[in-house]
Amino acid sequence: MTTGLGSHFVAVLESLGMASRLRQGRLAARAGQVLSMSLSTSVVVAQVQDGSRTHRCRIGIKAFSKAEWTAVEKALVSQALYTARLLAGEVPYEMFADLGLRLFPDDMRELAMDCTCDTWDMPCLHLAAVCHLLAEMFDQDPFQALAWRGRGREELLSRLGDLRRVAQEPQPVKGFWRMQGPPATSAGPAAGARPDAVLDELAPLPLQLRGERVVDLLRPAYQAMARGVR
Ligand SMILES: [Zn+2]
Repeated sequence: MTTGLGSHFVAVLESLGMASRLRQGRLAARAGQVLSMSLSTSVVVAQVQDGSRTHRCRIGIKAFSKAEWTAVEKALVSQALYTARLLAGEVPYEMFADLGLRLFPDDMRELAMDCTCDTWDMPCLHLAAVCHLLAEMFDQDPFQALAWRGRGREELLSRLGDLRRVAQEPQPVKGFWRMQGPPATSAGPAAGARPDAVLDELAPLPLQLRGERVVDLLRPAYQAMARGVR
């Protein structure tokens, strides 16, 4: 199921009592009243025109803590599918839920909104118009919502790459037996070579059977096989 992140954001704002304001804001946004909008860590700043005046709006959200971002990054690296979904424009909501995190707040107190207009009934029309455009932005690129929470796309992808490299570094193998000397060839004995020469290359095998070295027990078998081949 893919639900646009913007729709999710709008649904959250509506549940917080902004439904009628958002409808007015959508009309203002469609009329082109939002002159500019920029999103950086934790805050969105926008210029919104209203008649002959231009107002400055700010919408802040609490960034995830360093520990919360570390948990998000580890989850993204452990499940490659989560990162793939993000890159495809889909947010792995269940991943955030599993970590006890919400991308969007469920309480207006977690959002800090202010505007230079003198509307007493907040959020004002200008902020609602910015929220509408913000939702459209999240629909197009969910990384913007992550940036709002404190990690820009480039920084996040770079950190994921670092974590993945560390995870893939080969670990030293302990107790791995390595053969000393020249490697035994898997090909048959070369013409003119002793058919049992490969046994000497494997020596010394510290194995004995009934008091005899295994190498010596195998030697007649190799010589017999070589006679059979010829
Ligand atoms: Zn305003």
